[in-house]
Amino acid sequence: QSLRDPLTGLYNRRYMEDALERYLSMAQRSGRATSAIMIDLDNFKALNDQHGHAKGDAVLRDVAGQLVGALRPSDVVSRYGGEELLVILPECGMDDALLKAEILRARIEALSQVHGADISASLGIACVPETSGGVADLVPMADAALYLAKQAGRNCVRMAERRPLPEKPRLAVG
Ligand code: GH3
Ligand code: MG
Ligand code: MG
Repeated sequence: QSLRDPLTGLYNRRYMEDALERYLSMAQRSGRATSAIMIDLDNFKALNDQHGHAKGDAVLRDVAGQLVGALRPSDVVSRYGGEELLVILPECGMDDALLKAEILRARIEALSQVHGADISASLGIACVPETSGGVADLVPMADAALYLAKQAGRNCVRMAERRPLPEKPRLAVG
């Protein structure tokens, strides 16, 4: 299937980009929120170096399994890049996305026990409409928030900044 990543069984990036456009246009029409969580495994190069690439692959598969297990069937989980995963949460605002991301972070950290290695991830969240206007800035803002999580020491969640509320539309006179 060209929609799926063979290693993890998650949707691939191309599918995710299509899905994102569809979800956002539906959400904007119905006035509902949509959240994105960008997830990047911490120090994954070191894990490969110390435990081997096959172990790295096994960890990636288990991380994917944990994400899918913690989310709803209507959520979209994708392998966005090598060890980067992107989750789309339809009908989910900032506060719920933050709770969800913390659950995902904890589940990933708990894999350390199973694999006998330090496993963790950094997560960045952005939401339409609270932080982002649409498809053009949702993923970039989740990515920027992820970068803040890395800077803060990894194994944590950061949220993009709320944007100022759009001005009330004024009545056109004349
Ligand atoms: P950071 O905490 O800053 O994200 O550090 P990092 O080591 O995770 O970041 P970096 O981008 O330097 O390394 C990413 C590593 O992920 C390097 C690459 O070999 C590994 N990787 C990417 N895809 C796969 C894969 O499919 N399998 C395995 N085993 N490793 C992968
Ligand atoms: Mg990376
Ligand atoms: Mg990484």
